[in-house]
Amino acid sequence: MSDKQPLFQSARQQGYLLCVDCEKLHLLTQEGQHCDRCGARLHSRIPNSMTLSWASLIAAILLFLPANLLPVMTFKSFGQGEPNTILGGIIHLLEQDMLLIGLIVLIASIVVPALKMIAMIILLCTVQFRLHTNLRQKALMFRIVEWIGRWSMLDIFVIGILVALVQLGNIAHIEGNDGATAFAVVVLLTMFSAIVFDTRMIWDSSVADLATAKREQKDNS
Ligand SMILES: [Zn+2]
Repeated sequence: MSDKQPLFQSARQQGYLLCVDCEKLHLLTQEGQHCDRCGARLHSRIPNSMTLSWASLIAAILLFLPANLLPVMTFKSFGQGEPNTILGGIIHLLEQDMLLIGLIVLIASIVVPALKMIAMIILLCTVQFRLHTNLRQKALMFRIVEWIGRWSMLDIFVIGILVALVQLGNIAHIEGNDGATAFAVVVLLTMFSAIVFDTRMIWDSSVADLATAKREQKDNS
C-alpha cells in the first residue's frame, strides 16, 4: 500500500466539520458552537441521530395503517356520499374511467410514502448493522428521499383546498376525515426521520473498517 492518505478519510478524521444548514466548513474544535455564517449549532454528527430517526420512522410505519384504512375525506353531493379511504377513492376514480388521476393518487399516496419508508429502513439498517454494500447508491437514495419529501404534502393540500372551496351547502360538500390527519402525520414523521438522519454515518463504519484494515496491514508488515 502506498503512503498516500486513504481514499476514505472523513472530514472529522481530518479535523473538520460541516454546518449541515449552510454547508460551511468549520474546524472540529468548534463542535457544539454556533456557525458563524448561519447561526446553526455545529455537530460533526447530529446527536442521537439514529434513535430519533428510528423512532419517527417506526411511528410513521405504524400510522401508515390508519392512514390507509380510515377514510380520508367525505364528498357529499346533494346529500349523498360516504367517507372514502385512499384506496377506495382510487378504485372510485378507476371505475369512473379516470385512469390517469387514479394512478397519480396511487403513486402519490401509497407507492411513494411506502418506498420512502423502505428506503429509510435500508439506510438505518446500513448504519445500524454496518453494511457496506453500495454506499454511494445509498447516499443517492437518501438524496432522492429528501427531495421527494417536499412534494409529499400534495395530497393534504388538495384535501385542504377542496374542503375550503367546495362548501356549497346541500349541493356539494367535502370534509376531511381522520385518515387525512394520520396521513399528514405519516408524511411529517417520515420527513423528520430523514432530516435527523445524519448521512455522514453511512460512511463512518467503512472509514473505521478501512482504518482497522490499514492498522492490521501495518502490524503484519
Ligand atoms: Zn451554517
